[in-house]
Amino acid sequence: AKGAAMVTAVAYRLTEQARQIQQTMAEFRLSKAQLLEVKKRMRVEIERGLKEDTHKEATVKMLPTFVRSTPDGTENGDFLALDLGGTNFRVLLVKIRSGKRRTVEMHNKIYAIPIEVMQGTGEELFDHIVYCISDFLDYMGMKSARLPLGFTFSFPCHQTSLDAGILVTWTKGFKATDCEGEDVVELLRDAIKRKEEFELDVVAIVNDTVGTMMTCAYEEPTCEVGLIAGTGSNACYMEEAKNIEIVEGNEGRMCVNMEWGAFGDNGCLDDIRTKYDQAVDENSLNEGKQRYEKMCSGMYLGEIVRQILIDLTKRGYLFRGQISETLKTRGIFETKFLSQIESDRLALLQVRAILQQLGLDSTCDDSIIVKEVCGTVSRRAAQICGAGMAAVVDKIRENRGLDHLDITVGVDGTLYKLHPHFSRIFQQTVKELAPKCDVNFLLSEDGSGKGAALITAVGCRQRELEAQ
Ligand code: BGC
Ligand code: MG
Repeated sequence: AKGAAMVTAVAYRLTEQARQIQQTMAEFRLSKAQLLEVKKRMRVEIERGLKEDTHKEATVKMLPTFVRSTPDGTENGDFLALDLGGTNFRVLLVKIRSGKRRTVEMHNKIYAIPIEVMQGTGEELFDHIVYCISDFLDYMGMKSARLPLGFTFSFPCHQTSLDAGILVTWTKGFKATDCEGEDVVELLRDAIKRKEEFELDVVAIVNDTVGTMMTCAYEEPTCEVGLIAGTGSNACYMEEAKNIEIVEGNEGRMCVNMEWGAFGDNGCLDDIRTKYDQAVDENSLNEGKQRYEKMCSGMYLGEIVRQILIDLTKRGYLFRGQISETLKTRGIFETKFLSQIESDRLALLQVRAILQQLGLDSTCDDSIIVKEVCGTVSRRAAQICGAGMAAVVDKIRENRGLDHLDITVGVDGTLYKLHPHFSRIFQQTVKELAPKCDVNFLLSEDGSGKGAALITAVGCRQRELEAQ
């Protein structure tokens, strides 16, 4: 009986359908040599971003943040924070107390940003943000406080100081007009003035990676790297000031917002990008941009899956060859659905129920195939993201002239936190590709809000010193 079962299994494997599907997925399965190559190329792009001669045309921008140290525990005060650019838009009040018993107390409210506002005019977007702040201040009864504010703005910004950031380009789902090339701190201040209801002191603009690193560093001083694996993908780390050629001064370190999502925009990943990656790019709001991010972040993984499923259906290997309206709909496979489909605890019947919920009528075979497609796409995402991180930690190790580096990476993001396999495969990959580094991963609790407040606290202190 065992022999007969094996024969059947082999026969199944050899069916044309199975062979075709395996061939389609093979391109997504990267070897260790390929991943090492990704790591090596990331390192090349890091250097190009840091060097003055090549910074202008570099794709991985390595943007200075003017954050020169991680928190030391003396941060103190009440701060407002905004968190724009992730899954939710939030306004927060953060109360930080220093001393023997350090505490951080947070209050926050989530606000929706309608798609028309994300993709309308800049003025509408910033008016909406200020409207939300106003609502929050009413809710907290703090309209007259004139609090210092830290703005977590999770997009590439060219900073010249802690409180100035020119938006390089929108990413993810945002496309408001008249913002690119403008200082977003000024846009926010202008909108606050237009409203004439309250005053705020905008002290810092903060990338979410930096907020995450700072939040984790507040608890764990060895944290000198921040990672976001969520809607978008990015990392930051403490770089030697002397290596950041576009900023004057060679003393100490400064946090660099890598903007690694743009890795590959010069074509350097074309050999591993598939036709499905290209289709996702062509269908996006920012064609040709953020190519690495489009291979490894939550906003796009479902889209890659959808492109593969459309292709397999067209070729007659799925859904009885019928492309439904649902399958034609952009954005149906959100991170939370992928996470459910890939959960090991789900029986196939439950996978079919999820597909049903999404409006996809599947057979049992269909559900097996869909699950495999999801698994293959998210594995590649975790691996190439891990290859990027391996390049970063090895760079830090070399900066410090060490044979061995112990370091902590602060992490946030829905993909990392919700997906059942992403974090494990990511960590394994870092370990394999950077064997001289012992990397500890620390999940951040509300990194964007807390981190913005911590940076604002440091900014206020710095200002007082300069005023003396
Ligand atoms: C943005 C980064 C951000 C990342 C994670 C990317 O699209 O360019 O600034 O850190 O998403 O939110
Ligand atoms: Mg976030």
